[in-house]
Amino acid sequence: MHLNKSDWVRKNGPRREFIKFGSVTTLSALTCGLSTTLVQEIADPHPAHRIYDVIVLGLGAMGASCLYHTAKRGAKVLGLEQFDIGHMLGSSGGFTRQTKVAPYIQGPDGALIRRANENWRILEKESGQKIFHQCGWLNLGVPRNRAIGQSKSEGTKIELLDPKGIAERYPQFQKLSDKTEALLDHDGGLLRSELSIASHCHIALRRGAHVRAQETVEGWEADENGVTVKTSRGSYRAKQIVIASGAWNAKLVPELKGKLKVTRLSLGWFASKDNETFDMKNFPTWGHGSHYGFPVMPDFPGIKVAKHWKGDPADPDHLDRIPNHRDESLVRDYLSSHLPSANGTTLAYKICMYTWSQSWLGPLPGEKRVSVITACNGGGFKFSSAYGEALADFATQGKTELPVGHMRKT
Ligand SMILES: Cc1cc2nc3c(=O)[nH]c(=O)nc-3n(C[C@H](O)[C@H](O)[C@H](O)COP(=O)(O)OP(=O)(O)OC[C@H]3O[C@@H](n4cnc5c(N)ncnc54)[C@H](O)[C@@H]3O)c2cc1C
Repeated sequence: MHLNKSDWVRKNGPRREFIKFGSVTTLSALTCGLSTTLVQEIADPHPAHRIYDVIVLGLGAMGASCLYHTAKRGAKVLGLEQFDIGHMLGSSGGFTRQTKVAPYIQGPDGALIRRANENWRILEKESGQKIFHQCGWLNLGVPRNRAIGQSKSEGTKIELLDPKGIAERYPQFQKLSDKTEALLDHDGGLLRSELSIASHCHIALRRGAHVRAQETVEGWEADENGVTVKTSRGSYRAKQIVIASGAWNAKLVPELKGKLKVTRLSLGWFASKDNETFDMKNFPTWGHGSHYGFPVMPDFPGIKVAKHWKGDPADPDHLDRIPNHRDESLVRDYLSSHLPSANGTTLAYKICMYTWSQSWLGPLPGEKRVSVITACNGGGFKFSSAYGEALADFATQGKTELPVGHMRKT
């Protein structure tokens, strides 16, 4: 029997009529040739699938990684995202994030950054996408560079550059003080942020995860047997939930109210006189005092420069996303003094959010079915491929062997 759309909706209920009714052919194109059975499941989860082993609330850097690791273990997992997959409205947008190894190697995050980098490489193989560009990370001007330099013995690939070495290797930098030294961490570089989120979700879907974007979580309630999650489109049950809602975490976790400080930051892209001198072959990611930047990527014309500072207080639901003159002035002075050949016209400006808090990764105290990860201030992206694994451990085994104990102190 052929059902028209209204018959179909009467029979199956009104939720997501468009996608449920949308032709499998269109969906096949969108889902890159996944099997018809899987496509139908994605399009129309059987009601039984509204009960999951794990539901992940928020599919940014942390949540998408958790979804992927959970799906790879064969658990029935659902990921819910209020916007699109790989959007620009949270803390992970803006194409790229820096990663580095040397500053962490001797501290509590040493093993974790190694694990994160292994996981990025695995994701690259599985997805066929170039996510981790190991173009190096150059830290200019910090005396601490010498101490970090000793981490050479730990097997990191680093070089120390004196002022002459910096001038010879990176003449793009000008007017550095004659005492400026630099550390070049060859294990560092950049990660493609939105691409990695999309890739984590892509592989998770292939492994049977369900993903629902454009669906906002309105609340959750845990009981003896599981957790109910209410969204803008319905409700679901799971044995465990993982809250990875970044700057919105305090809206879903009352315990975090007053403990997270969300701030508005900006990222700018500028035309350079000679893009080749700023491409990844010739120019690494770098940090100098509170400014930092990225080489020119093949798919966008311009170097990315930003200022790492506390930022202006913000509410994630009412963020001023229009770049203004002040945003630009935060980096123009730096460019005109230290990178004059990249002080060209503005090519793009984007607004992003830091969430400042004590880091937390693991079950909420008193709620063994609910794990939370905080958005990790201004430096969590590089670890997200490992944090997601630890979150999947908590959600599927109740514990993790990964060294994240220092992230469970309040
Ligand atoms: C300007 C800037 C520069 C940075 N630079 C670096 C860097 O160079 N290196 C580095 O390692 N880190 C860096 N960071 C930090 C890093 O980007 C963050 O630690 C990381 O992106 C946080 O990821 P997240 O998953 O917690 O947040 P997000 O990626 O924002 O994800 C949270 C997700 O939850 C969703 N969500 C929220 N509420 C709901 C709801 N109710 N229902 C459904 N979905 C919901 C959101 O839409 C969002 O997609 C930077 C951050 C910023 C802002």
